[in-house]
Amino acid sequence: MYKRVLLKISGEALASVDPAGDKNLGIDQKMLEKIAQDIKAVYDQGVEICLVVGGGNIYRGVHGMAKHGMDRTTSDHMGMLATVINGMALQHAIESEDVPCRLMSSIPMPTVGESYIRRRAIRHMEKGRVVLFAGGTGIPYFTTDTTAALRASEMGCDLFLKATKVQGIYTKDPVHHKDAEFLPRLTFDEVLAKNLKVMDTAAINLAHENHIPIAVFSIYEDGGFAKVISGQGHFSLIQ
Ligand code: UDP
Repeated sequence: MYKRVLLKISGEALASVDPAGDKNLGIDQKMLEKIAQDIKAVYDQGVEICLVVGGGNIYRGVHGMAKHGMDRTTSDHMGMLATVINGMALQHAIESEDVPCRLMSSIPMPTVGESYIRRRAIRHMEKGRVVLFAGGTGIPYFTTDTTAALRASEMGCDLFLKATKVQGIYTKDPVHHKDAEFLPRLTFDEVLAKNLKVMDTAAINLAHENHIPIAVFSIYEDGGFAKVISGQGHFSLIQ
């Protein structure tokens, strides 16, 4: 049984898909509700939960740079603000399930949420509140995967779960390659040596150094979060 876990939810997991194509259309209410219900199922088991939310459905730093020649810092700050918008939506969805939730932002914005303070975040979880970390690390040139590995380390989590669009880690992208092989169990060294595109190496290294196993599972799986926590279902584990 896990005492405290961190779940990373990418911005794309929250996105609506345009019925005519695969264009992202902001935040999908049904996905928000589904994710909030999955979180409640684990919360009800008495597991302490913290969350990191991404912003890719709204804005990614590289987008502004590549398309508009914007400087990286401005562009990344916009990306981090996007994660706060997602965080506010997710906080509301979680509280609608009667689960107390506190949004903490790495970029101080006191009228919107609390500023990130490590001891305060831990206290919230001890008191039975889900803590939602938004604003990334607050620093440009990083990703929300790295944020998740960092916060999981700071919070002393037993497990770092990454919810993705596929059911775990494969040898190649399973969406584009039919012969992609599923990898249920891996070591950190294997992920780095095989250059598997699970998340950026900064995130992998942080989790590795702090001995936090990483579980990768599908956000679309019903009750997927709870299944990973009980060791069931389809997921990959790096340890
Ligand atoms: N970002 C950043 N520093 C951080 C975390 C995020 O600058 O510590 C910016 C970066 O521009 C990134 C954007 O925020 O593209 C959104 O985060 P990310 O792409 O990781 O979101 P996800 O892919 O999980 O939706």
